[in-house]
Amino acid sequence: MVELKLGNLKKKVPKDVSKVEEIIILGAGPAGLSAALYAARAELSPLVITGMELGGQASLTNTIENYPGFPDGVGGSQLGELFQKQAERFGAKFEFDVVTEVDFNEVPFKIKTFSKEFLAKSVIISTGASPNLLNVKGEKELTGKGVSYCGTCDGWFFKDKKIVVVGGGDSALEESLFLTRFASSVTIIHRRDQLRAGKILQTRAFNNPKISFIWDSIIKEIQGDQAVKKVQLENVKTGAHSILETDGVFVFIGHTPNTNLFKSFLDMDQNGFIITNQYVKTNIPGVFAAGEVMDSHFKQVVTSAGMGAAAAIEATKYLESGD
Ligand code: NAP
Repeated sequence: MVELKLGNLKKKVPKDVSKVEEIIILGAGPAGLSAALYAARAELSPLVITGMELGGQASLTNTIENYPGFPDGVGGSQLGELFQKQAERFGAKFEFDVVTEVDFNEVPFKIKTFSKEFLAKSVIISTGASPNLLNVKGEKELTGKGVSYCGTCDGWFFKDKKIVVVGGGDSALEESLFLTRFASSVTIIHRRDQLRAGKILQTRAFNNPKISFIWDSIIKEIQGDQAVKKVQLENVKTGAHSILETDGVFVFIGHTPNTNLFKSFLDMDQNGFIITNQYVKTNIPGVFAAGEVMDSHFKQVVTSAGMGAAAAIEATKYLESGD
């Protein structure tokens, strides 16, 4: 056995668990990378287990125009790299692996990845959120064959092609505007007759000659063999069905938080977002959450980064106090 010190608290842990990290950060989006920067500057040598996407969802965004300090905008993946570089400069460590299991029943907390097992005195969860699916016939079969959830990743494949975008929020409009660089036309299909997106994006979309709208409609089926050929639409007001020929379907209808791994330990709301108090503390002392995994409201790079910083500050206080 070896002795683990947490503030004034001392605890014996098995010897093979010789290395107990002060802070492990799960996820490497804006929240996780900002937490890493703050924890590193507190000399805690945080370990970031990155998951699949370094930079998180923001890294899939072509240009971020509303992150302060970049008056001309900044590429999403470039911003992620800058965050990482800054955290590394102060001693943050990175493990490019995916977490498969956690045990928060006792300190040190246990975290398993595909290849290793880690122990930590405190954990910051910043695993973000994943895009929602339409859940209609043809969607799964044609994903990667014309169905996409990322304009930046796949837009290039649709040069001079006709595409449809589903959704009426900021993501749908921002991505539609980006996709007009490639596509010959972008038809936005929205289930209501009013957009949810902010006014600036609405004005840009309405003024773009390549963008048109089909209101009050949903996709019932995506059709095609080796590639998307058409979508079957239903007007939700009249019940009328119609067919629209298209080469691609881009879906931007919100996100679901990546919290399955934590369900048996942490309090969550009915949509699966982790519940924290104003100091980003979860119901388990020593476990904090930041970014889109706990924020269903703001969902901005800048707010996620702020919450990541807050989580690292609180984790540092927790480690010092030994509460
Ligand atoms: P969102 O704001 O939740 O919008 C989702 C859109 O998809 C809504 O228009 C919704 O319709 C529609 N929708 C939901 N489920 C659907 C379904 N099953 N079938 C068809 N349509 C469906 O999501 P988001 O656009 O991803 O934005 C998420 C957050 O990130 C927001 O807070 C947004 O402001 C922020 N964001 C900001 C920026 C920016 O500032 N540049 C960029 C991207 C995202 P209803 O409107 O009828 O509910």
